[in-house]
Amino acid sequence: MTENGAKAQLYRYKLLGVAVAVLFSLALILGLHSGKVCAVIVNGKIIAYAENESTVNKTIETLAAQKTKQLDQEVIPEAGMELKTVKSAKTPLNEKNLTQVLADKVNFVTKGTVVEIDGKPQLTFNNRQTTDKFFNQLKEKYTTGENCELSFEENINITDKQVNIKNLDTIENALHLAENGKGEPEIHIVSEGDTLWDLARDNDLTVEQLDKLNPGITENLQLGQEIKVSGSAPLFTVLSSYEITEKETIPFTTIYRQDSSMALGTTKSVQEGRQGAKNVTYQVLAENGRITGKTEIKEEILKEPVSRIVKKGTKFVLSSRGGGLIWPVAGSITSRYGSRWGGTHSGIDIASGYGTSIRAAGPGRVTTAGWGGGYGRTVVVSHGNGIYTRYAHMSSIAVSTGQYVDRGQFIGRVGTSGNSTGPHLHFEVVRNGVTSDPLRFL
Ligand SMILES: [Zn+2]
Repeated sequence: MTENGAKAQLYRYKLLGVAVAVLFSLALILGLHSGKVCAVIVNGKIIAYAENESTVNKTIETLAAQKTKQLDQEVIPEAGMELKTVKSAKTPLNEKNLTQVLADKVNFVTKGTVVEIDGKPQLTFNNRQTTDKFFNQLKEKYTTGENCELSFEENINITDKQVNIKNLDTIENALHLAENGKGEPEIHIVSEGDTLWDLARDNDLTVEQLDKLNPGITENLQLGQEIKVSGSAPLFTVLSSYEITEKETIPFTTIYRQDSSMALGTTKSVQEGRQGAKNVTYQVLAENGRITGKTEIKEEILKEPVSRIVKKGTKFVLSSRGGGLIWPVAGSITSRYGSRWGGTHSGIDIASGYGTSIRAAGPGRVTTAGWGGGYGRTVVVSHGNGIYTRYAHMSSIAVSTGQYVDRGQFIGRVGTSGNSTGPHLHFEVVRNGVTSDPLRFL
């Protein structure tokens, strides 16, 4: 081939290339012209291709009408939907598919009501009436007792605004959320050594929040106990304050009456005790139905209790055999009864440490409890039948005049008051005004 021949061939190829390109472009342009479709754009995104704008508008209108009927209030498509006629090879959707796509992708809105809890939108209702109904039912749930007052711990804000109908809550569903909260709870199972504080710290919670998630939880965690550590605390804390009246029994008391005609150690019931009854009114505080405080505010006696009366024998016979008296303190005798230093020692001296407990030697009534001159702090007990015991030089006295004491009852402490050279108990027995040797009766 000559050089000219080669050039000519190259030229022909170029020509062919241009022709092909022109034809291709022509085909493309023809093709576009033949595929004019309507693009449905929502939030800047093409969601469907329809035959034309009126098909889309008609479908949207039908859908809005259906939803309006369902909800019984006006529902409209959300603003922001765009229709654009474009040239595209895309096949437009048929009516059925277009309806499906638009129903799914286009947001329909209505004038609804949003409930914000502590500034966070949490519930959405179709209108105020539904919202009020919800709150009434929620309150009804926590209304107990008389004069019930309810409030919310959270700050609640209710506003009317355009809402997506997909977000609408039914009363039933809202009541469930109110009680159980949103989100799936995450459960921790208590193992050895877990404390409430550990669980709170490990889950970025405060102990207070843990308590909200697990109403009624205490510091006493049980192995295997399930504890919610995330998610679904109730939406509201309904605080209620109300009064309840409970019927309660009043226990009876037992009164003992000393009876000197009955032998010591014997008892006889002379009146049966009967419980009384009363109505007690409490002011109760509760959080979401869980009682957090209970204070008595009123009491009405329905029936007074009747005391049980028991007679107790006090007849005491001093005997030199088998001893009616017990040792008032334990210790050795440092000075006996009888002649001493040219006089008479009217009792016995029992050595005992300062402050040692002194017991009544027998049952009886206290006739003296106080200062007794040279005796110092003194207690005298009358045992009946003209028999008395005296306890002297005490450091303290635990009984008072007129009081009945049992055998062995604590009456005071050893001391060195009055004419005394050191801590000891001076113990006397007096019969019909005359002292006797106590050792005869101990
Ligand atoms: Zn003495």
